[in-house]
Amino acid sequence: MAQRQDKDTTPVNGCDPEERYDNAFRDWLHELYDVLDFPDPEAPPAWVRKLFESSGRVPPDRFAGIAFERRRTDITEAFTRVAATVHTQTGVDLSVNNPDLAFEHPSDEFPIGLVSFAGSPIWSADPPEMYVALAEAIQSYLADRHRKVWPLCPRHHLGTHPRVAAGQAVWWCYAGAHESEPI
Ligand SMILES: [Zn+2]
Repeated sequence: MAQRQDKDTTPVNGCDPEERYDNAFRDWLHELYDVLDFPDPEAPPAWVRKLFESSGRVPPDRFAGIAFERRRTDITEAFTRVAATVHTQTGVDLSVNNPDLAFEHPSDEFPIGLVSFAGSPIWSADPPEMYVALAEAIQSYLADRHRKVWPLCPRHHLGTHPRVAAGQAVWWCYAGAHESEPI
């Protein structure tokens, strides 16, 4: 891959170590993205930077395994949190042992694996988007399998929809154009 030259004033040699380090990090991100389509080189998750700091340029195939395990853990944890709310509010038990939460290991088709709930893929493993995706999948599941409209806006008694508002994952009530509750 061609070396990126953003600043003409930057000497090729002799740039400070921090800049060289940042360049190496960026190069690695682009290499990963070329092979795995993940992570977004412009907005990598914080753990990717930490991995680079502790382990350097992890090769893409090894990175894919690490990313999969990481996503499995983070999405399962978020799922457990949302499921607890579902249990409290609807009585439906979506425990983590529920086979509807499915994990597929990295493959040619899914380079960093696939996490899905009841057939809905959960692509993001970072808040707030991860919570919105989970909420959407769980909401559809409750509607399809349990004929339940969940959750309802306590003020307007109508179904709400998950979205990101002011950087947070929330249930949004379109009837009143307001946040009904955090996800
Ligand atoms: Zn409302």
